[in-house]
Amino acid sequence: MAGTCRPNHEVSKLPWNSDRASKDLNELSLEPHPMGSARIKVLADYLDTEMKNAGLETGRDSFTSLVPDPDLLGLEANPMRSVTLSMAMQNVYAKLKSGTDNCALLVASHYDSKRLPQGPSIDANDSGSSSVAILEMMHGLKNANVKLRCHIVAVWFDGEESYLPEWRDGQTRHPARMIDNTYGSRHLADSLQACGDANTKTWCLPQTWGGERVEGLILLDMVGMENLRLTPESRSAPALMSLAMELDKQMFSGQLFGNSSFKAVEDDHIPFLEKGIPSLDLIGFENLDTWHQPTDTFERVSMKSVQQSAELTAAVVQKLLGFE
Ligand SMILES: [Zn+2]
Repeated sequence: MAGTCRPNHEVSKLPWNSDRASKDLNELSLEPHPMGSARIKVLADYLDTEMKNAGLETGRDSFTSLVPDPDLLGLEANPMRSVTLSMAMQNVYAKLKSGTDNCALLVASHYDSKRLPQGPSIDANDSGSSSVAILEMMHGLKNANVKLRCHIVAVWFDGEESYLPEWRDGQTRHPARMIDNTYGSRHLADSLQACGDANTKTWCLPQTWGGERVEGLILLDMVGMENLRLTPESRSAPALMSLAMELDKQMFSGQLFGNSSFKAVEDDHIPFLEKGIPSLDLIGFENLDTWHQPTDTFERVSMKSVQQSAELTAAVVQKLLGFE
């Protein structure tokens, strides 16, 4: 991470409103909300309104993506017909203007749910839990009035889940031969503007988002299972993963990462890593009992786990962006 200030060693405890967090998770897990659904538009409004009411600057980034037509899964290309469908999507963001430099740290989750062939998926853990952790972290940092070196920009990505049944079907079993996942994060990464001088490869947010230089990305995903176990994700920036694991030791006796072994997980951080932006994926990819199942419901999510993931994230943010 670029920067002139040394990390702050004081990390203030994140305020937590458990009633609000439960209400938010309930809203985010009431109904399935895959990309393109009526329900996901309601949730975009919900996220935006809650952050606006908290006094944060908010915005939407609406875009259209081509997705593989599910009717053609497993077939060969037919030159007489299109193999894709057009899908309207939107990313939602909220900015906490606590920074003094013209820079931004992104803290992100996806907010779409998985479209399941066998029936509705609610996806309270994937991705309600991480969406709520970020909402509550933004409230907490705002209320604690912490002074940071850069603005914090929370982003909720649309379309992380594949439209086809499996993550790689778009590339392997469909005539479109296209990536069919991480639509929202790829859209934002593609929208970043090169803004460094000749010697430094630096990326800035689109002007419509404010144009700040992007210092890094912290991604949360699937952080709500009972007895949260985070995965040491091996493609994440090593310095950021080491910091998160060190803070876990200090704050939670190392229970969150436990003895889990490093593994690579494909997620919304990849498009940012590919741009050279330091990125960290905090994902609970260990207990997969309810993953992409109709059983991924509100009742199965532990609010304690959601809170712990938000506290860990807030600590990483403060270590990275605090003043000496
Ligand atoms: Zn998922």
